[in-house]
Amino acid sequence: MSLGDALIDRAGAWRYSEGHGTIPQEKEHTMAKTLRCGDLMPGCPTVIEGKDEQEVLKKAAEHAARDHGLAEIPPEVAQKVQAAIRDK
Ligand SMILES: [Zn+2]
Repeated sequence: MSLGDALIDRAGAWRYSEGHGTIPQEKEHTMAKTLRCGDLMPGCPTVIEGKDEQEVLKKAAEHAARDHGLAEIPPEVAQKVQAAIRDK
């Protein structure tokens, strides 16, 4: 392969990668969050992750309903959940 071909190849790869995947700048605006369920429910190994607090809370509610039998999260528990959410 000549040097010229190699350069064309790289340009092609660059164009290809430009059209795919996510735009990096967008990701930096939202801080991903994580919640260790074990902080609230001792012994639970589940770690919930989300792109923001809203998503973590939503997933936490789903997990609590499915795995802990909590159909609804009482306000005082919701507060604890919110306090236990950490930046990823
Ligand atoms: Zn759990």
